[in-house]
Amino acid sequence: MAFHRSSLLLRKALGGSRAAAVYSFSRSLLCDSSNYSDFRRWYSSSESDNKGTNMSASGYHVNSGPAYMRGAVFWEPNKPLTFEDFHMPRPKANEVLIKTKACGVCHSDLHVIKGELPFASPCVVGHEITGEVVELGPLTDSKIIERFPVGSQVVGAFIMPCGSCFFCSKGQDDLCESFFAYNRAKGTLYDGETRLFLRNSGKPVYMYSMGGLAEFCVVPAHGLTVLPNSLPYTESAILGCAVFTAYGAMAHAAEVRPGDAIAVIGIGGVGSSCLQIARAFGASEIIAVDVQDEKLQKAKIFGATHAINARKEDAVAKIKEITGGRGVDVALEALGRSQTFSQCVQSVRDGGKAVMIGLTLSGAKGEVDINHLVRRQIKVIGSYGGRARQDLPKLIKLAERGIFNLEAAVSRKCKFEEAGEAYKDLDQGSIVGRAVVEIM
Ligand SMILES: [Zn+2]
Ligand SMILES: [Zn+2]
Repeated sequence: MAFHRSSLLLRKALGGSRAAAVYSFSRSLLCDSSNYSDFRRWYSSSESDNKGTNMSASGYHVNSGPAYMRGAVFWEPNKPLTFEDFHMPRPKANEVLIKTKACGVCHSDLHVIKGELPFASPCVVGHEITGEVVELGPLTDSKIIERFPVGSQVVGAFIMPCGSCFFCSKGQDDLCESFFAYNRAKGTLYDGETRLFLRNSGKPVYMYSMGGLAEFCVVPAHGLTVLPNSLPYTESAILGCAVFTAYGAMAHAAEVRPGDAIAVIGIGGVGSSCLQIARAFGASEIIAVDVQDEKLQKAKIFGATHAINARKEDAVAKIKEITGGRGVDVALEALGRSQTFSQCVQSVRDGGKAVMIGLTLSGAKGEVDINHLVRRQIKVIGSYGGRARQDLPKLIKLAERGIFNLEAAVSRKCKFEEAGEAYKDLDQGSIVGRAVVEIM
């Protein structure tokens, strides 16, 4: 029965126009170089040499459904994402093929698109998703099949733990060696291969996490959790990165306790999630710092007790003033700039924790006053994502109970075809909260 239902859903999902369309990422970047066009034409050409590429993907049908899908491809820095046809991706053992329902628009993708974070290309970006299970890889563990039957609704974390490396075996999924060695370093899954191949040429396209900006994606099962019926597909997508990252920072890096004073610098998708998680953890003062009044206004909905516009006031001095001269127990930097890195360190009390969660340009440095760090026992802690197997189920519960307000956190919903525009707006700082692309 599930078999039949899935194939119907798939046909419906892929019924739309297949015309490849080019969307501008930035008005200033529209001057298309001929080299770039040639590269794309060569790459997409069916006449090109397919040796060395995995052609086993060709002709594959999911449950008698479509053999192809569309995905948004990043080719090279500062060039528009294009929509291309792919062979239907094939899950391998302990991997799940998902019909993508929604994918969040995150700054990490933007760093890749702008060339600030080097990544294998061409690739499909997008790394916080919800969707429906349509297929499990052959030889998948029976427990995984039980947990994620075909037709079940799931949410995927951007760190997809392998489940068996040194760190995964310690429960530190957020440091998974396979994820960093294969996905972040090579754009593949953990056998060293991508699951994405262009329809015309059969050439491989790499995956930023699961490559979520596509109609289907393959996710290692340990990166997934079941999404209950009570939670919507679109808003729940942000559980996989924005909320996940905020929770990881609060629970594992900062170990926030009830009554702690918290400052969050940078109130974007992740920063605003930090405010909500701080409130859920029982923080007393929750201080939001940004340079846009609109974001600071909205911060109060997420639990901020104080708001500081760092363009108008000295953020560190104001944080000290609010906390009786001491500084906060925990300050979080959710922007990824050298200046805010320093502000974050200066904002914490003696013995306090400065937690860095904003990614930045590759190779960027931050300055710290060494003597202050030593004498006042300041802890500077990096935090990246969360622990999928432990944390995602907890986040689902927080969202189900309304302790984390998903609806308020998602400020814009857009169509699949508008993904390029959404990244452009994110780059210009005009998204207050989080945008989510609906891929239904
Ligand atoms: Zn992200
Ligand atoms: Zn691992």
